[in-house]
Amino acid sequence: MTETLKGEIALVTGATRGIGAAIADELASQGALVIGTATSESGAASITERLGARGGQGRVLNVTEAGAIEALVDSIAKDIGPISILVNNAGITRDNLLMRMKDEDWQAILDTNLTSVYRSCKAVMRGMMKARRGRIVNIASVIGVTGNAGQSNYAAAKAGIIAFSKSLAREIGSRGVTVNVVAPGFIDTDMTRGLPEDAKNAMIGQIALGRLGEPADIARAVAFLAGPNAAYITGETLHVNGGMYM
Ligand code: NAD
Repeated sequence: MTETLKGEIALVTGATRGIGAAIADELASQGALVIGTATSESGAASITERLGARGGQGRVLNVTEAGAIEALVDSIAKDIGPISILVNNAGITRDNLLMRMKDEDWQAILDTNLTSVYRSCKAVMRGMMKARRGRIVNIASVIGVTGNAGQSNYAAAKAGIIAFSKSLAREIGSRGVTVNVVAPGFIDTDMTRGLPEDAKNAMIGQIALGRLGEPADIARAVAFLAGPNAAYITGETLHVNGGMYM
């Protein structure tokens, strides 16, 4: 593997498992020094164990905690160096039909999946603009484009990420910072593993390639957008969904 990301310092949120873990591993394998976040000390320790050989480490972060991401970005800048790649991956689902949705389920999804992206982009952008280089990749979802019954909160947050990223791309493109989105389809992770078999088969029926995606499928797309081959791409959404009818 050529080390196309050598010299980069990458921050990946939600890197303990699933798509975030695959992104952290892929960026590290391409030469980046990767800091992955976890919600617990033990999660952070397991990330350090995975990435430590390449200089990376795990740090604790709850993306809904005001001030936490700003403090983390400052401490990385002080201890390691300025972040040049930010991947906003942390996310949750709290599905319910709107009729039955509680305010706290609506709010939790907006806080965790959308406000967190606003906060972390704001925390890293000053440093990136000063350096006149930087890559931000935000993880949305096919659901943010198609919508889905039972996921109005999640769809709204993910659509918000797409529109937010296009806007930020226009604000900071002239300073050498790109902002792009990867919108995964249905990926085989803890998020989808609990679904009933028939729901999963119905999903697979909508996918041209006839299978769920793997976290590594998403990770490679993120690494592309974070790397030199994507230098002239910004404000885009890359759909990695095996060919879904949208
Ligand atoms: P996952 O549940 O396996 O992982 C989610 C990660 O987010 C975990 O590391 C978790 O610790 C972290 N996280 C959750 N709440 C957090 C908080 N408050 N603070 C910090 N970290 C927090 O899910 P996944 O499938 O790997 O999903 C990763 C991203 O991809 C999410 O944004 C998700 O919406 C998106 N996505 C997933 C799929 C899919 O089919 N799996 C499809 C489209 C988009």
